[in-house]
Amino acid sequence: MIVFELICADRHRFEGWFASAEDFEGQKTRGMLSCPVCSDSKIEKLLTAKLGRPEPEPQASTQTQAQAARPRSLHEMIDYILLNTEDVGKEFPSEARRIHRKQARERSIRGIATGEETRDLLEEGIAVMPLPVPPREDWH
Ligand SMILES: [Zn+2]
Repeated sequence: MIVFELICADRHRFEGWFASAEDFEGQKTRGMLSCPVCSDSKIEKLLTAKLGRPEPEPQASTQTQAQAARPRSLHEMIDYILLNTEDVGKEFPSEARRIHRKQARERSIRGIATGEETRDLLEEGIAVMPLPVPPREDWH
């Protein structure tokens, strides 16, 4: 997953979650992206692309705005992740490392990692994102 900082024609800044840079371009081309503040669809991404979970936003007002816009898109985001990632289960930490080292085909994966494994991956500069949903039986 990649988190891009996006900006609309009115210079509202917000975040978008994407499987890849190509995914961002595809959604943009299809007009699926719009500013959560003014609904403008002329969205550009800022040059700084962040991987994984974004840093906590220090400004409370911006944070509130982002969260207010989030519930529906969060739900859609989770569905999107489930449909567009390969479930590697407990192999997740090792497979993530193999992809990071280009020893495995680059793709989006999901799986199981302990908090410690997640921290280790992040320290190695590997983009991982804890999913805000509990594991379910029907994840296939
Ligand atoms: Zn806007």
